[in-house]
Amino acid sequence: MSAITPLRDFVADITRLVSLGPNEDNLLAEGKTLLERLIADDAWLPDAYAEPGPDSYRQNLLWCDPLERFSLVSFVWGPGQTTPVHDHTVWGLIGMLRGSETGENFSVAVDGTLTKTGDEVLTPGMVSAVSPTLGDIHKVSNALVDRPSISIHLYGANIGAVRRHVFDAETGAPKDFVSGYSNESVPNLFDRSTEIRNEAC
Ligand code: FE
Repeated sequence: MSAITPLRDFVADITRLVSLGPNEDNLLAEGKTLLERLIADDAWLPDAYAEPGPDSYRQNLLWCDPLERFSLVSFVWGPGQTTPVHDHTVWGLIGMLRGSETGENFSVAVDGTLTKTGDEVLTPGMVSAVSPTLGDIHKVSNALVDRPSISIHLYGANIGAVRRHVFDAETGAPKDFVSGYSNESVPNLFDRSTEIRNEAC
């Protein structure tokens, strides 16, 4: 088993899960169990996807399903870094890998006013969910002032290519937003040569 094996196994498990169909309750429940298992250990995340950016948080694509039924992203927050208030428009699971993050949750009224509905602090091993049915608008910040924090996000789409929204924190005014990704290439999950060479013939 190489360091990347837990990530490859997780991608295979989620591929099987999304192949069962788009039942959101099932995806969130089973996905949470699988994500908890993935983040129970953090040795699998390659260093290149764990580096904070100097000016802004990074969102590194780790894997995207070829049919874009799901994507997996490492979010890396440097000290003091934060997202704008934003939505997702698809289901998502957030698993805390290292450090800690604060999620501020919001609801939007019919007149467009944003109301903060609560705070959520995640520590390693914890998993939180978002979706249009559960509550989909939040702002996320590194809860630590002296070191990076990293969370692993699983979404029900190719999230970097989803047309969604950021919201003005004062007025609640929405603005179109397509996040993209910070990285140009994804980890190689499939070099299994060492384990194959070590197998008895
Ligand atoms: Fe988010």
